[in-house]
Amino acid sequence: MSTLLIRNGRIIDPASGLDAIGDVLIDGGKIVRVGGIGGTSLKGGDEILDATGKIVAPGFIDMHVHLREPGIEHAEDIETGARAAAAGGFTSICCMPNTSPVNDSATVTSFIVQRARQVACVNVFPIGAITMGSLGVELAAIGSMREAGIVAISDDGRPVMNARVMRRAMELAVAFDIPVIDHCEDLDLSAGGDMHEGAESVRLGLRGIPSASEDVMVARDLLLAELTGARYHVAHLSTMRSVAMVAFAKNRGVKVSCEVTPHHFAITDRELETYDSNYKMKPPLRCQHDADAVIEGIVSGVVDAIATDHAPHPGSEKMQEFERCPFGITGLETALGLALSELIHKDRITLMRLVELFTTGPANILKLDRGTLAIGAPADITIFDLTTEWAYDVQQSYSKSRNSPFHGRRFRGGPLATIVGGEIVWTFQNKSRE
Ligand SMILES: [Zn+2]
Ligand SMILES: [Zn+2]
Repeated sequence: MSTLLIRNGRIIDPASGLDAIGDVLIDGGKIVRVGGIGGTSLKGGDEILDATGKIVAPGFIDMHVHLREPGIEHAEDIETGARAAAAGGFTSICCMPNTSPVNDSATVTSFIVQRARQVACVNVFPIGAITMGSLGVELAAIGSMREAGIVAISDDGRPVMNARVMRRAMELAVAFDIPVIDHCEDLDLSAGGDMHEGAESVRLGLRGIPSASEDVMVARDLLLAELTGARYHVAHLSTMRSVAMVAFAKNRGVKVSCEVTPHHFAITDRELETYDSNYKMKPPLRCQHDADAVIEGIVSGVVDAIATDHAPHPGSEKMQEFERCPFGITGLETALGLALSELIHKDRITLMRLVELFTTGPANILKLDRGTLAIGAPADITIFDLTTEWAYDVQQSYSKSRNSPFHGRRFRGGPLATIVGGEIVWTFQNKSRE
């Protein structure tokens, strides 16, 4: 395996606190030196990548994606989802278990792990189901899935409604040292709603999903996490009260973490007036005070990670009348652009904090030995900048699906190169050429 020298970039590594111009030398798929700080360049490298004016960060981790394989490959598969991830600057992704069959056994977990090894250009870490078939009744084969490679459990999209089942899942998760990730939604309160319940849903005549649908489940789970001592993670947190409850629980010492999606802090339910199904997702786009609270949570440190909830659906399914369309949007290729627009260009947080949300944040939750530029760590690196002007063209997406609300959106800055295990798997130039 050849050596690669990334030269003269602004290295930002939250794990060590380093923020300086320097070089990174990669050999044998690992980081072997970080140096050249202060001007004396590192020597070596069969291949040299000039990162002048660019930011060199640990590889980004997206802990919440849907890859649709096995079983729903017309929407996405492990290969195409991984390519979309690379084009978004992600070097590692965690895939949710709502495939067909559901990833509730070691057989399915092993299939995903093997398949990813064959076809994925980024690292893929499967998340196992909490219950068999994600039906909420009988616990899945959590121990054997753990041995086969899952990094967490979740019934994302089909949340566990029975609190006793959730308690038992948390107790098992403690024994296997994995986090329990919950899509917090009380399905009875959601009552088949299509968008956030509020002034906009009344105005548009669409059935509403109240914020309380999320809040009551966050409250339940926080109490159960305190009871069991489980590591508990809130997926795609979207409401003002949930942010406040997570902050409260963290102060009490509950082992809770949470992620937010770019769409929940970048846009609101006002977008729905076009009845465009690409604005239909769960949790629904909330109102402005919720989006502001999510950003406040990012600023204050309550939020641990940014995750996309990349949820591909083919056009045939998204091109129906609004009420019939499935929930979810793609997100891998626009996440960094949106985060830069909303968090960096608006001076909400530092670049160090931004990189943390994409690297050490998710790595710590899942206990992955990634998200760092430490010597000896896997050479997963994301190179991006704050200045390149580009527009997102969904027709050029690497994903099999086109359900993004951000088609045509203009960005300043974004991913430029993605390096996985020392190999350059995507560069910005490639994207414009293909
Ligand atoms: Zn979900
Ligand atoms: Zn999801």
